[in-house]
Amino acid sequence: MESITALKIYNILKIEYPDIPRSFLEFKNCYQLLIAVILSAQCTDKMVNIVTPKLFAAYPDAQSLASGNLDDIMSIIKPTGFFQNKAKSIKNCAAVLVEKFDSKVPQTVAELISLPGVGRKTANVVTQIAFDKTEGVVIDTHVKRLSNRIGFSLHDDVDKIETDLMKLFDIKLWKPLTFYLILHGRNICNARKPDCDHCVLAALCSYYADNKGALAATDKAVQKTAVKPPLKKTRATAKKAGK
Ligand code: SF4
Repeated sequence: MESITALKIYNILKIEYPDIPRSFLEFKNCYQLLIAVILSAQCTDKMVNIVTPKLFAAYPDAQSLASGNLDDIMSIIKPTGFFQNKAKSIKNCAAVLVEKFDSKVPQTVAELISLPGVGRKTANVVTQIAFDKTEGVVIDTHVKRLSNRIGFSLHDDVDKIETDLMKLFDIKLWKPLTFYLILHGRNICNARKPDCDHCVLAALCSYYADNKGALAATDKAVQKTAVKPPLKKTRATAKKAGK
């Protein structure tokens, strides 16, 4: 895709979603944001926001989490899924924060990805939202899916998708782009059934261009199989039925 088309898509999304939030995750400081993002892997932000108040009440800082009991941490974060691995990750992450970073959350992607359980996605979220520094594009499940469908990137690998988006868009757009794609993914272009008929991007979207014939045929078939109201009895049908 050319940069000019990508920019058109960005501008359409900007109009469609005029109010982007500061974050989908609730947090009061950098430590809380970092831990919340680790917990958000394979889990909804809504569920993370339910779990974190109890977690941060019990472990308000890196030191308390680093010395926390693993079973207790597990039982608190269980609803977020993959809780055994996540509990180890956040406890180990807190320990490294204490040992190597004076209990402070580092401000660069390179330092952040040196922490246990922290990949580029988490590191990009923390640098952008906690420190207002942009080093890359946050590639979550919605950004990945929409980038492929729209045609921003043909890659499956998230690092390659990130590189494609960084080439396609100006650095100033990287942070809002993620929010727009997440909102559009949640509202219209969902994983199971994208609602292309009501999508403002249809005219510029590769998926739509490649599938519009099939999508129209599916719509026709759905209309055909839709339950029809019973036919009114006419004299002819009544006669045929012997009535
Ligand atoms: S046209 Fe369809 S596939 Fe393309 S972005 Fe819109 S909903 Fe998603």
